[in-house]
Amino acid sequence: MNCALIDLHLHIDGSLNIRWMYERALLRGIIPEDTSFSDYYDRLFPAKESGIAIFDKFDVPLAVMQCQEDIHDACYTLVKELAEEGLLYAELRFGPQLHTRNGLTQEEALIAALEGIHDAMCNYPSIRVNLLNAFMHAGDSAKANEKENLETLYLTEKYLGQGVAGLDLAGYENNCDLNEYASLFQLAREKDIPFTIHAGEMGNGENVLKAIDMGAKRLGHGIFAIQDPSYIKAILDNDVTLEICVTSNRSFGFTYATHPIRQLMDKGIKVTVNTDDGMFDLNNLAYEHFVLKKIGFSEEELLQCTMNAVDAAFLSEKEKNELRQKIIKPVSMLQ
Ligand SMILES: [Zn+2]
Repeated sequence: MNCALIDLHLHIDGSLNIRWMYERALLRGIIPEDTSFSDYYDRLFPAKESGIAIFDKFDVPLAVMQCQEDIHDACYTLVKELAEEGLLYAELRFGPQLHTRNGLTQEEALIAALEGIHDAMCNYPSIRVNLLNAFMHAGDSAKANEKENLETLYLTEKYLGQGVAGLDLAGYENNCDLNEYASLFQLAREKDIPFTIHAGEMGNGENVLKAIDMGAKRLGHGIFAIQDPSYIKAILDNDVTLEICVTSNRSFGFTYATHPIRQLMDKGIKVTVNTDDGMFDLNNLAYEHFVLKKIGFSEEELLQCTMNAVDAAFLSEKEKNELRQKIIKPVSMLQ
Protein backbone atom coordinates (compact mmCIF):
# COMPACT_ATOMS: atom_id res chain seq x y z
CA MET A 1 0.00 0.00 0.00
CA ASN A 2 1.27 3.46 -0.86
CA CYS A 3 0.13 6.06 1.68
CA ALA A 4 2.47 8.82 0.55
CA LEU A 5 -0.32 10.72 -1.10
CA ILE A 6 -0.83 14.05 0.65
CA ASP A 7 1.70 16.74 1.54
CA LEU A 8 0.40 19.67 3.57
CA HIS A 9 3.78 21.29 4.20
CA LEU A 10 6.00 21.97 1.22
CA HIS A 11 7.75 25.24 0.33
CA ILE A 12 7.94 25.90 -3.39
CA ASP A 13 11.27 27.73 -3.18
CA GLY A 14 12.78 24.86 -1.20
CA SER A 15 11.49 22.15 -3.49
CA LEU A 16 12.55 23.10 -7.01
CA ASN A 17 14.09 20.78 -9.55
CA ILE A 18 17.81 21.57 -9.26
CA ARG A 19 18.62 20.89 -12.91
CA TRP A 20 15.79 23.16 -14.05
CA MET A 21 16.95 25.87 -11.65
CA TYR A 22 20.56 25.64 -12.85
CA GLU A 23 19.59 25.94 -16.50
CA ARG A 24 17.31 28.89 -15.77
CA ALA A 25 20.06 30.62 -13.76
CA LEU A 26 22.39 30.26 -16.75
CA LEU A 27 19.73 31.51 -19.16
CA ARG A 28 19.08 34.61 -17.07
CA GLY A 29 22.75 35.37 -16.52
CA ILE A 30 22.33 34.94 -12.77
CA ILE A 31 25.45 32.80 -12.69
CA PRO A 32 28.50 33.06 -14.97
CA GLU A 33 28.12 30.96 -18.10
CA ASP A 34 31.12 28.81 -17.19
CA THR A 35 29.51 27.73 -13.89
CA SER A 36 29.37 23.95 -13.78
CA PHE A 37 26.33 22.11 -12.47
CA SER A 38 28.50 20.66 -9.76
CA ASP A 39 29.62 24.12 -8.53
CA TYR A 40 26.05 25.38 -8.61
CA TYR A 41 24.88 22.31 -6.73
CA ASP A 42 27.46 22.92 -4.00
CA ARG A 43 26.01 26.39 -3.36
CA LEU A 44 22.79 24.73 -2.25
CA PHE A 45 24.58 22.71 0.39
CA PRO A 46 27.17 25.03 1.93
CA ALA A 47 29.58 23.36 4.29
CA LYS A 48 28.88 24.10 7.95
CA GLU A 49 32.25 25.82 8.30
CA SER A 50 31.28 28.32 5.59
CA GLY A 51 29.13 30.08 8.18
CA ILE A 52 26.28 30.54 5.68
CA ALA A 53 23.07 30.85 7.68
CA ILE A 54 20.45 28.19 7.15
CA PHE A 55 17.95 30.55 5.54
CA ASP A 56 20.42 32.33 3.26
CA LYS A 57 20.54 29.26 1.04
CA PHE A 58 17.05 30.18 -0.17
CA ASP A 59 18.68 33.03 -2.07
CA VAL A 60 19.73 30.47 -4.68
CA PRO A 61 16.19 29.42 -5.75
CA LEU A 62 14.76 32.88 -5.15
CA ALA A 63 17.29 34.37 -7.58
CA VAL A 64 15.60 32.48 -10.42
CA MET A 65 12.03 33.18 -9.37
CA GLN A 66 11.85 36.92 -9.99
CA CYS A 67 9.88 37.10 -13.25
CA GLN A 68 6.50 35.65 -14.09
CA GLU A 69 7.80 33.15 -16.62
CA ASP A 70 10.25 31.63 -14.15
CA ILE A 71 7.73 31.50 -11.30
CA HIS A 72 5.24 29.86 -13.63
CA ASP A 73 7.73 27.29 -14.88
CA ALA A 74 9.10 26.55 -11.41
CA CYS A 75 5.60 25.81 -10.12
CA TYR A 76 4.67 23.84 -13.23
CA THR A 77 7.75 21.65 -12.94
CA LEU A 78 7.22 21.03 -9.23
CA VAL A 79 3.55 20.07 -9.57
CA LYS A 80 4.38 17.78 -12.50
CA GLU A 81 6.95 15.99 -10.34
CA LEU A 82 4.56 15.67 -7.41
CA ALA A 83 1.94 14.19 -9.72
CA GLU A 84 4.47 11.73 -11.10
CA GLU A 85 5.34 10.71 -7.53
CA GLY A 86 1.69 9.79 -7.04
CA LEU A 87 0.54 12.60 -4.76
CA LEU A 88 -3.19 13.21 -4.81
CA TYR A 89 -3.16 16.54 -3.00
CA ALA A 90 -0.63 19.12 -1.83
CA GLU A 91 -0.69 22.52 -0.15
CA LEU A 92 2.32 24.50 -1.31
CA ARG A 93 3.79 27.46 0.59
CA PHE A 94 4.51 30.55 -1.45
CA GLY A 95 5.72 33.90 -0.11
CA PRO A 96 4.68 36.48 -2.73
CA GLN A 97 6.83 39.19 -1.12
CA LEU A 98 9.97 37.13 -1.83
CA HIS A 99 9.46 37.53 -5.58
CA THR A 100 9.39 41.31 -5.95
CA ARG A 101 13.15 42.01 -6.15
CA ASN A 102 13.08 42.77 -9.88
CA GLY A 103 9.91 44.81 -9.91
CA LEU A 104 7.08 42.28 -9.85
CA THR A 105 4.24 43.12 -7.52
CA GLN A 106 3.14 40.48 -5.02
CA GLU A 107 -0.02 40.02 -7.06
CA GLU A 108 1.90 39.47 -10.30
CA ALA A 109 4.07 36.89 -8.55
CA LEU A 110 1.03 35.14 -7.12
CA ILE A 111 -0.77 35.05 -10.47
CA ALA A 112 2.28 33.48 -12.11
CA ALA A 113 2.42 30.78 -9.43
CA LEU A 114 -1.30 30.09 -9.74
CA GLU A 115 -1.06 29.83 -13.51
CA GLY A 116 1.90 27.44 -13.31
CA ILE A 117 -0.01 25.22 -10.92
CA HIS A 118 -3.18 25.43 -13.00
CA ASP A 119 -1.37 24.50 -16.19
CA ALA A 120 0.32 21.53 -14.50
CA MET A 121 -2.98 20.30 -13.06
CA CYS A 122 -4.51 20.45 -16.55
CA ASN A 123 -1.77 18.20 -17.91
CA TYR A 124 -1.53 16.01 -14.78
CA PRO A 125 -5.11 15.77 -13.53
CA SER A 126 -4.36 13.07 -10.93
CA ILE A 127 -3.11 15.77 -8.54
CA ARG A 128 -4.88 18.66 -6.91
CA VAL A 129 -2.85 21.56 -5.47
CA ASN A 130 -3.62 24.67 -3.45
CA LEU A 131 -1.33 27.49 -2.42
CA LEU A 132 -0.85 28.75 1.09
CA ASN A 133 0.46 32.30 0.95
CA ALA A 134 3.14 32.85 3.55
CA PHE A 135 3.62 35.85 5.76
CA MET A 136 7.36 36.15 6.29
CA HIS A 137 9.51 36.76 9.32
CA ALA A 138 11.95 39.56 8.45
CA GLY A 139 14.37 41.47 10.62
CA ASP A 140 14.00 41.30 14.38
CA SER A 141 10.51 42.77 14.52
CA ALA A 142 7.20 42.05 12.81
CA LYS A 143 7.14 45.78 12.05
CA ALA A 144 10.02 45.29 9.60
CA ASN A 145 7.72 43.98 6.86
CA GLU A 146 4.28 44.65 8.30
CA LYS A 147 3.20 46.41 5.10
CA GLU A 148 4.27 43.48 2.92
CA ASN A 149 2.56 40.95 5.19
CA LEU A 150 -0.65 42.96 5.13
CA GLU A 151 -0.53 43.01 1.34
CA THR A 152 -0.13 39.22 1.40
CA LEU A 153 -3.19 39.01 3.64
CA TYR A 154 -5.37 41.08 1.31
CA LEU A 155 -4.16 39.13 -1.72
CA THR A 156 -5.05 35.90 0.02
CA GLU A 157 -8.52 37.20 0.70
CA LYS A 158 -8.88 38.17 -2.97
CA TYR A 159 -7.74 34.81 -4.35
CA LEU A 160 -9.17 32.53 -1.67
CA GLY A 161 -10.90 29.59 -3.33
CA GLN A 162 -9.21 30.35 -6.65
CA GLY A 163 -6.11 28.26 -6.05
CA VAL A 164 -5.28 29.84 -2.70
CA ALA A 165 -6.49 27.94 0.35
CA GLY A 166 -5.01 29.85 3.25
CA LEU A 167 -2.07 31.46 5.00
CA ASP A 168 1.09 30.55 6.87
CA LEU A 169 3.89 32.38 8.67
CA ALA A 170 7.33 31.24 7.51
CA GLY A 171 10.99 32.13 7.83
CA TYR A 172 13.23 32.19 10.88
CA GLU A 173 10.81 31.51 13.72
CA ASN A 174 12.98 32.97 16.46
CA ASN A 175 13.46 36.37 14.86
CA CYS A 176 11.04 37.97 17.27
CA ASP A 177 8.18 37.23 19.66
CA LEU A 178 5.52 35.27 17.74
CA ASN A 179 2.86 37.39 19.46
CA GLU A 180 3.93 40.33 17.31
CA TYR A 181 1.97 38.67 14.49
CA ALA A 182 -1.23 38.33 16.51
CA SER A 183 -2.97 41.27 14.81
CA LEU A 184 -2.31 39.78 11.35
CA PHE A 185 -3.86 36.47 12.33
CA GLN A 186 -6.73 38.26 14.04
CA LEU A 187 -7.47 39.89 10.68
CA ALA A 188 -7.23 36.52 8.96
CA ARG A 189 -9.78 35.12 11.41
CA GLU A 190 -12.14 38.04 10.81
CA LYS A 191 -11.93 37.32 7.09
CA ASP A 192 -12.42 33.54 7.57
CA ILE A 193 -9.07 32.75 5.97
CA PRO A 194 -7.75 29.36 7.14
CA PHE A 195 -4.19 29.42 8.40
CA THR A 196 -1.36 27.38 9.77
CA ILE A 197 1.69 28.79 11.55
CA HIS A 198 5.28 27.60 11.73
CA ALA A 199 5.66 27.19 15.48
CA GLY A 200 7.75 24.98 17.74
CA GLU A 201 10.15 24.05 14.94
CA MET A 202 13.33 25.70 16.16
CA GLY A 203 13.59 24.95 19.84
CA ASN A 204 10.88 27.17 21.27
CA GLY A 205 7.96 25.04 22.43
CA GLU A 206 6.17 28.03 23.92
CA ASN A 207 5.45 29.21 20.38
CA VAL A 208 3.05 26.29 20.13
CA LEU A 209 0.89 27.93 22.80
CA LYS A 210 1.16 31.34 21.14
CA ALA A 211 0.15 30.01 17.73
CA ILE A 212 -2.79 28.13 19.20
CA ASP A 213 -3.87 31.27 21.07
CA MET A 214 -3.87 33.06 17.69
CA GLY A 215 -6.32 30.47 16.42
CA ALA A 216 -4.12 28.08 14.45
CA LYS A 217 -5.71 24.67 13.95
CA ARG A 218 -2.58 23.41 12.25
CA LEU A 219 1.04 24.00 13.19
CA GLY A 220 4.07 23.82 10.94
CA HIS A 221 6.18 21.23 12.81
CA GLY A 222 5.19 21.90 16.45
CA ILE A 223 7.69 19.26 17.50
CA PHE A 224 9.12 21.22 20.44
CA ALA A 225 5.73 20.83 22.09
CA ILE A 226 7.46 17.80 23.52
CA GLN A 227 9.24 20.19 25.94
CA ASP A 228 6.28 20.60 28.27
CA PRO A 229 3.05 18.71 29.04
CA SER A 230 1.09 21.99 28.94
CA TYR A 231 2.01 22.41 25.26
CA ILE A 232 0.81 18.88 24.53
CA LYS A 233 -2.41 19.57 26.41
CA ALA A 234 -3.07 22.74 24.40
CA ILE A 235 -2.67 20.80 21.14
CA LEU A 236 -5.06 18.11 22.29
CA ASP A 237 -7.60 20.48 23.85
CA ASN A 238 -7.77 22.57 20.67
CA ASP A 239 -7.75 19.61 18.26
CA VAL A 240 -4.65 20.93 16.49
CA THR A 241 -2.91 18.89 13.79
CA LEU A 242 0.89 18.90 13.42
CA GLU A 243 2.55 19.10 9.99
CA ILE A 244 5.67 17.10 10.73
CA CYS A 245 8.70 16.95 8.46
CA VAL A 246 11.06 14.38 9.97
CA THR A 247 14.01 14.77 7.60
CA SER A 248 13.86 18.57 7.69
CA ASN A 249 13.74 18.56 11.49
CA ARG A 250 17.27 17.17 11.61
CA SER A 251 18.35 20.80 11.14
CA PHE A 252 17.17 21.52 14.66
CA GLY A 253 18.80 18.83 16.72
CA PHE A 254 16.91 15.65 15.97
CA THR A 255 17.97 12.45 14.30
CA TYR A 256 15.56 9.98 12.79
CA ALA A 257 15.95 7.91 15.93
CA THR A 258 15.35 10.78 18.38
CA HIS A 259 12.58 12.58 16.52
CA PRO A 260 9.53 12.94 18.78
CA ILE A 261 6.90 12.04 16.16
CA ARG A 262 6.23 8.68 17.82
CA GLN A 263 5.89 10.23 21.29
CA LEU A 264 3.55 12.93 19.96
CA MET A 265 1.37 10.39 18.20
CA ASP A 266 1.27 8.12 21.24
CA LYS A 267 -0.05 11.05 23.28
CA GLY A 268 -3.01 11.21 20.91
CA ILE A 269 -1.86 14.14 18.77
CA LYS A 270 -2.85 14.10 15.11
CA VAL A 271 0.37 14.08 13.12
CA THR A 272 0.88 14.26 9.37
CA VAL A 273 3.91 13.41 7.22
CA ASN A 274 5.36 16.11 4.96
CA THR A 275 8.53 17.06 3.09
CA ASP A 276 9.14 20.80 3.80
CA ASP A 277 12.04 21.51 1.39
CA GLY A 278 12.75 18.51 -0.82
CA MET A 279 15.52 20.26 -2.74
CA PHE A 280 17.51 20.98 0.40
CA ASP A 281 16.51 17.90 2.34
CA LEU A 282 16.97 15.58 -0.66
CA ASN A 283 13.70 13.88 0.14
CA ASN A 284 10.25 13.35 -1.22
CA LEU A 285 7.07 12.14 0.42
CA ALA A 286 7.69 8.48 -0.37
CA TYR A 287 11.10 8.82 1.29
CA GLU A 288 9.52 10.27 4.44
CA HIS A 289 7.17 7.30 4.63
CA PHE A 290 10.09 4.93 4.01
CA VAL A 291 12.03 6.51 6.89
CA LEU A 292 9.07 6.26 9.23
CA LYS A 293 8.65 2.60 8.41
CA LYS A 294 12.32 2.12 9.22
CA ILE A 295 11.78 3.60 12.68
CA GLY A 296 8.81 1.38 13.36
CA PHE A 297 5.68 2.91 11.89
CA SER A 298 3.21 0.35 10.57
CA GLU A 299 1.31 0.70 7.29
CA GLU A 300 -1.83 1.34 9.33
CA GLU A 301 -0.18 4.17 11.27
CA LEU A 302 1.05 5.78 8.08
CA LEU A 303 -2.42 5.48 6.59
CA GLN A 304 -3.74 7.21 9.71
CA CYS A 305 -1.26 10.06 9.15
CA THR A 306 -2.56 10.40 5.60
CA MET A 307 -6.16 10.43 6.81
CA ASN A 308 -5.19 13.06 9.40
CA ALA A 309 -3.87 15.15 6.51
CA VAL A 310 -7.19 14.87 4.70
CA ASP A 311 -9.06 15.90 7.83
CA ALA A 312 -6.79 18.93 8.35
CA ALA A 313 -6.53 20.03 4.71
CA PHE A 314 -7.94 23.45 3.85
CA LEU A 315 -10.61 21.89 1.65
CA SER A 316 -14.39 21.66 1.75
CA GLU A 317 -15.99 18.54 3.23
CA LYS A 318 -17.03 17.52 -0.28
CA GLU A 319 -13.46 17.74 -1.51
CA LYS A 320 -12.19 15.83 1.51
CA ASN A 321 -14.68 13.05 0.88
CA GLU A 322 -13.51 12.78 -2.70
CA LEU A 323 -9.94 12.41 -1.45
CA ARG A 324 -10.96 9.78 1.14
CA GLN A 325 -12.61 7.72 -1.59
CA LYS A 326 -9.35 7.62 -3.51
CA ILE A 327 -7.21 6.79 -0.51
CA ILE A 328 -9.13 3.80 0.76
CA LYS A 329 -8.92 2.12 -2.62
CA PRO A 330 -5.89 -0.08 -3.23
CA VAL A 331 -3.29 1.75 -5.29
CA SER A 332 -3.82 -0.71 -8.13
CA MET A 333 -7.33 0.66 -8.53
CA LEU A 334 -6.25 4.30 -8.72
CA GLN A 335 -6.21 5.75 -12.18
ZN1 LIG B 1 8.25 24.88 6.58
